[in-house]
Amino acid sequence: MAGTDSQALIIACPMCAVLNRVPSSKLGAGGKCGKCGSDLFAAAPVELDARNFDAHALRADIPMLVDFWADWCGPCRQMAPAFAAAAPQLEPWLRLGKLDTQADQAIAARYAIRTIPTMLILKKGKEIARQSGAMPVQAIVQWARQALRSG
Ligand code: ZN
Repeated sequence: MAGTDSQALIIACPMCAVLNRVPSSKLGAGGKCGKCGSDLFAAAPVELDARNFDAHALRADIPMLVDFWADWCGPCRQMAPAFAAAAPQLEPWLRLGKLDTQADQAIAARYAIRTIPTMLILKKGKEIARQSGAMPVQAIVQWARQALRSG
C-alpha cells in the first residue's frame, strides 16, 4: 500500500551493500540485512570503496558522513578512533563511512577532496556540509547534528 510504502527507507547493508527497505519507525530497532543477515547498523563506520560507495551515498535514503583519509596521513590516523566513536552516537539517522583516498582516487576527485582528513555529509550524493582537519569525537557529533538540522 502506498501509505505504508512512503514510510519505508532504503538502507544499504554495511557488509554486502544490498539495499534493504526499512520502515522508518523501526530504523532504531536494530534491523538485519535481508540478504546476508548482518546488522544494518553496526555502531561502526562502513569501509567504503568503488563497489559500495554509490549504494550508501546515492541510493540509500539516510545521509552519510564520509571520512576521506589515507594511510600516510598522520592526522587521519589520529582522528580514526574519534570517528569510530561518533558512529554509535549518530546512527541510525546518519551512516558513517571511511573512504581511502589512495585506493579510490576517482571518488575523492568526484568530491574535489584536496586535503585530508576531510569529512563530507552527503544526502543522496549531494554535499550538504564539509569540514577539513581532524576533530575530537564530540566536535564531530556536534558538527554533524548541526549540519543535519540546517541541511
Ligand atoms: Zn547484507
